Amino acid sequence: MAVADVSTTPVPRRLRSGTHAVIDLDAFRRNIALLRALTPPNTAFMAVLKADGYGHGSVTLAHEAQIAGASWIGVARFTEALLLRQNGVSLPILIIGPTPEDDIPAAIETDITLSVGTGVAIDAAGRAAQTAGSSVRVHLKLDTGMHRNGVLPEDALAAARRIVEHPFLELDGLFTHYSSADEVDPLPTDDQIKRFDQARQSLAEAGIEPRYLHLANSAAVIAGRIGPSNLIRCGIALHGLSPSPEVPVDERFQSTLSLRSTIQRRFTLAPGEGVSYGLTWRAEQPTELGLVPVGYADGIPRNLANIGWFITGGVRCPIRGRVCMDQTVIEVPEGCQEGDTVLIVGDGRAGEMTFDSVAELVGTNNYELATRIMARVPRLYEREGSTVSWEVPLTSERGSLD
Ligand SMILES: *Cc1c(COP(=O)(O)O)cnc(C)c1O
Repeated sequence: MAVADVSTTPVPRRLRSGTHAVIDLDAFRRNIALLRALTPPNTAFMAVLKADGYGHGSVTLAHEAQIAGASWIGVARFTEALLLRQNGVSLPILIIGPTPEDDIPAAIETDITLSVGTGVAIDAAGRAAQTAGSSVRVHLKLDTGMHRNGVLPEDALAAARRIVEHPFLELDGLFTHYSSADEVDPLPTDDQIKRFDQARQSLAEAGIEPRYLHLANSAAVIAGRIGPSNLIRCGIALHGLSPSPEVPVDERFQSTLSLRSTIQRRFTLAPGEGVSYGLTWRAEQPTELGLVPVGYADGIPRNLANIGWFITGGVRCPIRGRVCMDQTVIEVPEGCQEGDTVLIVGDGRAGEMTFDSVAELVGTNNYELATRIMARVPRLYEREGSTVSWEVPLTSERGSLD
């Protein structure tokens, strides 16, 4: 099959002509510097870029995080780790969740570090390491209260022994994950720190000292509860977004992503006529409307129908009628033209919706909204206001001007 030649239009311009995300790499780096400044100097930094970097694009951001001083990348799945390796990311990569046994041989081959949170997982890693004939590093996950994955603290020593006594396994890390670091009440977090530290001590008394100890996510770093650790794992705050309304990033952090599009059709609706599926909004007087090619299959929640807004021409333009899979209609100001830029979600400085305000309107959190930005939305990366690189996850298109 012939592949269409799309090379006649300059790439950044072509990708900017429809719905696209712009990510500010300068702000991304500053956010990392701010997070690192919140921890003791010898604390290593893991940029957690699972789910395509929370929708912000993992490949470019992994390289950028390395420049900003990250020494680890965290992902959730082997396929996410593989994508980074295939695109030249050489930092240590930890899969922070469980890895199905069938993925382990390939993970070992591509030098990905595994988390192990059960005896079965330890044995599976051990078998695969033995078959590969190479020493494999693992991080032992403790369940200190979240009750998702992990070995209970009282079983930590036995699990650690099983790893260190295996000829092909190396205990590179011991870690846990907080259930409630993004809430006001510090007690659940303090309790988890205590349980983790007891397990750590029991290992130390047996002469087992993993190289990395890590507990904290973004919320715990912001709240100053990193516990007895020398590595932190930050995701949401890399992008300048708050872990929760209760534990917000401070005003020095800057959200890095803005979702933009263009007006594809401008038209006047006669009184009494309705818009979009079900005609859930009707014009009471002649009304100027604009069609924006963005919908719930780009990541804009369908529940924003008739309550959300976009910005064009510096004006707040309410969504009229239902948000469709690929298209949304807004009321536009006088003078708006086809081709005009539309700001859908951003840092809010131009009056646009933010991930936080959308989350409040539709009853979810900013994490879910960012990860909903679909693979067909081009990501354009800027430095000092100019596009320097881009990714289109759907077509695996990637490039840079550097
Ligand atoms: C997602 C995740 C993180 C990052 O959390 P943020 O709240 O985004 O900073 C850290 N650790 C684990 C185990 C995770 O699953």
